[in-house]
Order: sequence, then C-alpha cells, then structure tokens
Amino acid sequence: MATITNHMPTAELQALDAAHHIHPFSHQAELAEKGARVITRADGIYLTDSEGETILDGMAGLWCVNIGYGRKELADVAARQMTELPYYNSFFQTTHVPVIALSQRLADLAPGDLNHVFYAGSGSEANDTNIRMVRTYWAEKGKPTKTTIISRKNAYHGSTVGAASLGGMAGMHAQGGIPIPDIHHIDQPNWWAEGGDATPEDFGLERAQQLEQAILELGEDKVAAFIAEPVQGAGGVIVAPDSYWPEIQRICDKYEILLIADEVICGFGRTGNWFGSQTLGIRPDIMTVAKGLSSGYMPIGASIVSDEIAEVIGNCEFNHGYTYSGHPVACAVALENLRLLEEEGIVDRAGREIAPYLKEKWEGLLDHPLVGEAKIVGLMGSVALTPDKASRAAFASDPGTIGYICRDRCFANNLVMRHVGDRMIICPPLVITKAEVDLLIERARKSLDETLEKAT
Ligand code: PLP
Repeated sequence: MATITNHMPTAELQALDAAHHIHPFSHQAELAEKGARVITRADGIYLTDSEGETILDGMAGLWCVNIGYGRKELADVAARQMTELPYYNSFFQTTHVPVIALSQRLADLAPGDLNHVFYAGSGSEANDTNIRMVRTYWAEKGKPTKTTIISRKNAYHGSTVGAASLGGMAGMHAQGGIPIPDIHHIDQPNWWAEGGDATPEDFGLERAQQLEQAILELGEDKVAAFIAEPVQGAGGVIVAPDSYWPEIQRICDKYEILLIADEVICGFGRTGNWFGSQTLGIRPDIMTVAKGLSSGYMPIGASIVSDEIAEVIGNCEFNHGYTYSGHPVACAVALENLRLLEEEGIVDRAGREIAPYLKEKWEGLLDHPLVGEAKIVGLMGSVALTPDKASRAAFASDPGTIGYICRDRCFANNLVMRHVGDRMIICPPLVITKAEVDLLIERARKSLDETLEKAT
C-alpha cells in the first residue's frame, strides 16, 4: 500500500479521507461530494493547504491555538518529555514532575482560592468530571439530594454524554438519548435574537432571574450548581448584557449554588485577561479549562476547583479518573505554553493593544448592509447578519443559509471565519498583529460583499 503523504494530489487525499474518516459535526455524504480542504502546515496565524494556498486562521483552529502555530519550543518540550517519561498515571499513589509543576502554575494563575486541579483529556471530559464532582461534593456535605445542574439553552459544554447534556444545543439533544436526568436548562442571554422590545439591560436581568425561578421551582435542596461560559462561544459568541452576570452571581451566592465557569474558550487570554471570569467579574467555584491551556498542541483539559471543594472531596475516595488525567507530555507542553504566553507578554499585549484595535475594526463592520450587531470581548467576536437591522429580523430562508454562504465566501477568500446560524464568528490566535487584523477585516468585508451579492 502506498504511503500517504502531503505530496499526494489533493483529490486523492480527499477521496481517501472520505473513504475512511468520519468527521465530527459534519454531514458525511455532503462532505464527500465536496471534498475536505486538506491542511498541510501552519505557522503563526496562517494555515497552508495541499494546493499551496495560505489561509488566515480567524478561528485559532477550534478556538484553541492561542499562541499561534509553529512554536518549536513546545515541540522540543514534548520530545524531551516523551524521551524521559512518555506516560505515567497518578491513580495509585504516584505522581510526576510535569503534573506537579502545572498544577502549581494553574493554582497561581487562577483567581480567588481556585487552587486545586483535576485533569482530563479534553474540555468535555472535564465537564463530565464536574457533574460527578459537584454531586459528590454535596453528598459528602450531607446533602445528597442536591444533584440538579442548571445550564442554558444554546450553551456548548462538549460532546460526551454528560457534557452534551449540560450543553443546550437542540441539534445534539435530538440524537443519542440525551440529556441525562437532572440537568435543567434556562434561556440564554441573547438579546439580539430573543430580546424583543426589552432594553438589553432589562433583558439581561430577566434572563438571569430565570436562574432564581428555576432554583425556587426545582427546590433549593435539589440544585447543585449552575454552569455557564462567561461568553457563549459555540452558541455564536453571545455576549450577555452588562446586567446579567452580577445578577447571576448574586443568585448563586444567595442560594449557595456552586458556580461553574466553563472557561474552555474564554481561558488563557481570550477575553483580554487570563480568564473570562476576571473580565466579567465572576467568582466561580470551579473553572473548566482546555483548549488554550496547551494552545491545542496537546489534548488536555482540567477542572480547577476551590479550596472548599477540594477539601470536601478529599474526605472520600473520588472514584473517577481518565487514563490520560495529568498526562506528562500534555502537562509539560501546557506548562511551556503558559510560560511563553506570560513571558513573551502575549496575553498582556492581546488584551491591552490588540483587543481595542480589533474592537474598533470589528465594530466598523456595522456599516455593512448585512451586519446588524457586532459584538466582541477581547479576541472573540461575532456579527449577526440580518435583512433588516431595525427590526433585528432573521433571514426567511432556512436558518443558517446566509451563514453558510458567508462561511464559504470567507474560505474562498482564504479566511477561516465560522458561522453559527446567521452569526459569523472570529477567534484568532492571540499573536495576531495589527496589520494582520487589517487583513482579517479586509477579507471579512470582501466575503460579506460577496454574500450580499449572492443573497439578494
Ligand atoms: N466547553 C466549551 C465552552 C467549549 O467551547 C468546548 C469545545 O468547543 C468544550 C467545552 C468541549 O471541549 P473539548 O472539545 O475539548 O471536549
């Protein structure tokens, strides 16, 4: 059998891909007909495909390559760690230096008293851990009926059965027998799509107060935790009105409900600070992290938990863990990634210099006839496409059609910009420069113009 390499013709690679590879979140038959774009290399914020095209990656991979592509330091650390200790676990009273060092670093970086880390291989797994951890916590505190976790519609918390149940994606819930019991969903703070005639502030309060209503309806003695992304990512980069988070915090405090901030996207500089909770003034009891933790160079996720939770859980044997919990190579790479993000001032510069520049340019897209709303926090942004800005109307055709068109125009113009329904999204690597921001906006505008031409 011939060896498959980057040098094979694109069509052959596409045919082989379609023959044997089932893609996540994809319509397999449609994809096979079209042929997947084959990415062969990447450097900085650019991808190269098998045709030699250079593509600006406006999504940092899948919201994860915060440090940018091609950092040899991370490859070197991985190679060293693989040579020295490629694998060992910490199940049976053993540990190793990379997991010790990363845990100390995360305890240092995380806000408040979030000083303890439980590792997973991904964000989904970490959220599964959270389900079991908060229930175990309450059981250990003598309140075993506190099992329900409240989440939000259109939230994304991952793809495992537990994490997808926490998430509020209707399309996911329609397949595979989820959600699992004792997960309750309230409405999302998406003013553009659901705010009606209310002001954003009133709407934000109303949506936050749904949490209080849910607690009262379900019973305080039944509710274990509330989970939310500081800024909803996969739901369409939905930024809650300013009134939302203070009210959520008040309610969690009042009813002693654990607050889980899912920082899988928002963590590690994405929102302009190390964590989205800091940007939005949230005091979580648990943070879920993944993606930017290793900038996607190795699969790793974690739950970073408070002193109180660690102490309570520590009084029992928590019967939970993954073969790759605290994987030494993933930990070593994550630690090096965090070192570079800090010592090279990448998080700092992204927040202080690039974020305001990008915000100005991104909001400048509001003058485009298709763009009704432009939202951005740090380096994650979205625009809502609409046929009528004043009424915030949605396009009459199948939801998402306009988004598909725009996404395809972006790809044709060598820009990766994702769509969620009629919202277009960016989340570029934090190392993007101002000149590259200009290029991103230029390609986005061109793609919007072409979308307008096709749609009208
Ligand atoms: N939580 C959030 C907020 C996410 O955006 C994602 C992935 O996009 C996850 C959890 C799941 O992480 P993973 O894909 O690493 O399992």
